Amino acid sequence: MRHIAVIGSGPAGYYTAEACQKQFGEECRVDILDRLPVPFGLIRSGVAPDHQSIKGVSRRYEKVALTDSVRFVGNVTIGADVSVEELRGLYDAVVLATGAPNDRPLDVPGAALPGVVGSAAFVGWYNGHPDFADLAPPLDGPGAVVIGNGNVALDVARILAKDESEFEGADIVAHALAELRGSGIETITILGRRGPHQIAMTPKELGELGELARAAPIVDSADLPPPDADAALDPGQRKSVGHLRAFAAGGADASKPIRIVFDFFAQPVAIEGEDRAERVLVERTRLDASGRAQGTGETYAIPASLVVSCIGYRTPPIEGVPYDDRAGRFANDEGRVLPGLYAVGWARRGPTGTIGTNRPDGFAIAEKIAADMPGDSGKPGRPGLDSLLAERGVDLVTFRDWQKIDTAEIAAARAGAPREKFTTIERMLDARTS
Ligand code: NAP
Repeated sequence: MRHIAVIGSGPAGYYTAEACQKQFGEECRVDILDRLPVPFGLIRSGVAPDHQSIKGVSRRYEKVALTDSVRFVGNVTIGADVSVEELRGLYDAVVLATGAPNDRPLDVPGAALPGVVGSAAFVGWYNGHPDFADLAPPLDGPGAVVIGNGNVALDVARILAKDESEFEGADIVAHALAELRGSGIETITILGRRGPHQIAMTPKELGELGELARAAPIVDSADLPPPDADAALDPGQRKSVGHLRAFAAGGADASKPIRIVFDFFAQPVAIEGEDRAERVLVERTRLDASGRAQGTGETYAIPASLVVSCIGYRTPPIEGVPYDDRAGRFANDEGRVLPGLYAVGWARRGPTGTIGTNRPDGFAIAEKIAADMPGDSGKPGRPGLDSLLAERGVDLVTFRDWQKIDTAEIAAARAGAPREKFTTIERMLDARTS
């Protein structure tokens, strides 16, 4: 028997559990630990609420979760309730699947002003993550700036731009929907420090901006390279740039009250305001020979009472676990961190790729665990963890408990929504018995 603990119940965690089942068959027991009483990590708290088809992958994780060899152990905080060292003593392999939930800091003067928020907080707010439910971002407008040219910037701009009817079928939480309903935002500026050929936006997600009910995307055709230059791009990138060209050619739809302005070759240098964000000071850039953005010295200001920084994420360090501070993830050699300690997903390779990218990651780690640990080590695994947590009075949440929380959230849904997420740990725990 192999006893495996996976820390984190997001896509990387469940794909690792699935891979261990395939690798070891009945000869393994996998415990998936999570700080929250609810599973699925990024699927629940990161994927946009109006992208329900992506969230459907959780049904696959549920199948894995409902087998005898895999167990969800929610409401357990690493560090406070049990340490990684203790888990290494109890399990043959411990896999860090903790994702990258912290924002990469925006390192400009004024970044700490009220009204400046990171995407982890902003996305967590509209997705009902208990850590960010009380964020109350200022939506009084009329200007908002979204920093970054990746898919998260697109998610944030789209959520800010949609009207209520466009959230039909979405599991955006009630507090966010109510605050967005009163939003005074008229101009959402998406700042890219490089140009249209350097965006990290995928075609489907970018195309959605062209289909919004009350918002029109605006691209200055002067920012676009000559059309022939697109031939050098990979097909996905070419499609994305094609959307930008269509936005530029279409001109602004003046009948739509909200403008989503793409401001390329523009890097934030400061955020200014009396006692809250009022404007973003931006410097024009040009690309140097290696394709990096270099400031030109030309600056201008964009009025903004809300600034959302969508410039990437970092994995929080864990005491005693080797950490690569520059990359913002655990130091590892193709997933191996220390003997018996592994990392997968964003915690291993940084915050890139789609949900599905984590699947081969999980399978690669299962193979490494098999190679490193050919036989039974006699470690206690599950019963050992259970007695330790019981001694410490930890109120652990099982997958069956989660199913009760799930049922209660579905029952609480407003008309047309798939669920109303509970946004406090207490409410989640209470739903087990209601
Ligand atoms: P990302 O794709 O890495 O994009 C980060 C953006 O921030 C880049 O445009 C980067 O510009 C910019 N940036 C970084 N530091 C900056 C700075 N100091 N000043 C200004 N700009 C800065 O990250 P992401 O958008 O957070 O997405 C993370 C991952 O999740 C990606 O793989 C993404 O595709 C995925 N995701 C997918 C979906 C979906 O499929 N629907 C939705 C959301 C997220 P440079 O290129 O110049 O560095």
